[in-house]
Amino acid sequence: MKIFISVGHGGSDFGTVGINGIRESDINLELCEAIGERLKINGIEYMLSRTSDVDNPRAEKLAQIEKYNPALVLDIHFNSRNGVAGGVEAYYQNKIAIGKVLAAKISSAVASCLKLRNRGAKVKLLSDGRDYFGMLRNCPCPAVLLETCFIDNANDMKNFMNNRAETFKRTSEAIVKAICSQYKIKYQDGTASSEEKGRILSTVQTGRAKFKVGDRVLINGDLYASANAEKALGSVKNGNTTVTRYSEGARHPYNTMGDLGWMDEESLTLISSSENGGEAISEVENR
Ligand SMILES: [Zn+2]
Repeated sequence: MKIFISVGHGGSDFGTVGINGIRESDINLELCEAIGERLKINGIEYMLSRTSDVDNPRAEKLAQIEKYNPALVLDIHFNSRNGVAGGVEAYYQNKIAIGKVLAAKISSAVASCLKLRNRGAKVKLLSDGRDYFGMLRNCPCPAVLLETCFIDNANDMKNFMNNRAETFKRTSEAIVKAICSQYKIKYQDGTASSEEKGRILSTVQTGRAKFKVGDRVLINGDLYASANAEKALGSVKNGNTTVTRYSEGARHPYNTMGDLGWMDEESLTLISSSENGGEAISEVENR
């Protein structure tokens, strides 16, 4: 599963300026980078629309999305109104059911993490019935726009002001947990012990895995967004490729060249064994 993270504003468009002169474009990027870290820990592929303070207009983002072809777009913002309004809300596309459920999960998770009012999942339309927000209106896949909290409300921002790094980390955890719950991916907090990691690698080396990294295989079967996902995202027929990763003990332990998704042992048929006897152990997912 691939997620595109649209980092709100940037460069000459800094969004709004909140309390203590904090700029929306800056904290959007900080939060998006933290979300990226969490996705990586969970073995979910992602792309940030920008990684520094540069112009990144909507048309450019839509072109990036077209090229990247993600399953989901997250558009990250901070809200502002009058210094008094507060809380967390998330917008979804009017016609896309999964977005409504996911927006509700993300809004509720972030609100409880920041201990702020949950304003919930919302849809905002133009008079002609199309989605009001351009990113949601023109995005070719499900998209959720998160208004993390109100940048001009001192109470909303106190967490980010008092303990900045920790708050970004916790907020990103809440968002990624909500996504994992929606897409039936087992959430990993990234704290697997070194003994567990050692066990995973040594099991691969003793050859309990039916297929080894480097083996040429034929795939016929379902593809999963992560090694422990409950629901398949798609399937592949007669895919001729090479095993690149093995995750011991996972429900769908194999991944192959091109990262199509994770697969069951039953979905693979050996074409030719790797020349090096499978000694090349690649990274294990979800460490
Ligand atoms: Zn914004």
